[in-house]
Amino acid sequence: MPHVTDAPTPPTAPSAAAGRPRVLSGIQPTADSFHFGNYLGALRQWVALQEEHEPFFFIADMHAITVEQDPRQLRERCLRAAAQLIAMGVDPERSAIFVQSQVPAHAQLAWVLQCLTGFGEARRMTQFKDKSSKNGEGAASVGLFTYPILQAADILLYRPAFVPVGEDQRQHLELTRDLAQRFNHRYKKTFRLPEPYILKATAKILDLQDPHAKMSKSASSPGGIIEMLDDPKLSAKKIRSAVTDSGSDVRFDEEEKPGISNLLTIYSALTDRPVSELEEAYAGRGYGDFKKELGEVVVEFVTPFRDRTLELLEDRATLDEVLRSGAKRAAEVAERTLADVYDRVGFVPA
Ligand code: ATP
Repeated sequence: MPHVTDAPTPPTAPSAAAGRPRVLSGIQPTADSFHFGNYLGALRQWVALQEEHEPFFFIADMHAITVEQDPRQLRERCLRAAAQLIAMGVDPERSAIFVQSQVPAHAQLAWVLQCLTGFGEARRMTQFKDKSSKNGEGAASVGLFTYPILQAADILLYRPAFVPVGEDQRQHLELTRDLAQRFNHRYKKTFRLPEPYILKATAKILDLQDPHAKMSKSASSPGGIIEMLDDPKLSAKKIRSAVTDSGSDVRFDEEEKPGISNLLTIYSALTDRPVSELEEAYAGRGYGDFKKELGEVVVEFVTPFRDRTLELLEDRATLDEVLRSGAKRAAEVAERTLADVYDRVGFVPA
């Protein structure tokens, strides 16, 4: 298995609209900046997917409010997420980039699907158990409980051929397929059953200070996480201070050298140089040189990204327009599906 992400080669299928298969993916606006794990583990694929697909990429603000959010911060983070997506290469011409709450069909379909979901079935979703375990189930919102059903609506509205999902989302996609099948069976064939496209070859980025845990916005210490919008000099410093073992051999070995292996994964992902080539290039040179040069690679990568994001954030009118037009494109597709659904369940036309 490769150490780093290869450009995805998802299954293809005939598209409804543009002659390209539709693909749908979302990300929550729950931090001021995406981090290297988000980028190398997920968002980089978004850029690649738009080459041969018709993508609908959304910022999941409705999912975000399943736990308490500061309203001003939430709004700001949605815009920051959009700016970062564009800065990393998601092209608003080829991909519809939109904010979930701007397409009301998501909430509308979610309600219909909730009425098709068994309570016990929803209960079996393990992510709710994980996420609510900290403060106890009683303190969790009903929104957090029904989150996978909203996710099913997000997907089914666009009748995509496949959905890129991480291993942790597999169970939710199964629920999506079950609900689609149930609806099709009870009423009339309306939904396409989306295939999971498990992004197996993606890089899993580990915490720089604790290379046994994944890099994560909620669990990593400031020194363990590289935020895409960090000052590039700070990011280079974090790389130089990353925890490694007491040896000096730059070699990929997840068991014995998790820290160095993680840095090799990052290096390889940012430069597209195979890990074996990097091992050769740094043979006999020690960790100091390796970390310093990886720091330079990181600076070179994040500087233009950060500049572009900040520039986009200065130009709110353009950003608003991108989101408005993305929402319009998304709504055109979503509302067609919703109209079929409303008709089939027996709602009186408005
Ligand atoms: P949390 O701290 O709440 O778990 P997170 O920072 O880990 O959040 P998510 O919002 O859960 O990030 O994930 C967004 C996307 O980024 C998902 O597709 C997830 O698989 C991916 N991702 C997050 N962290 C990593 C990581 N360390 N390595 C690879 N992919 C990651």
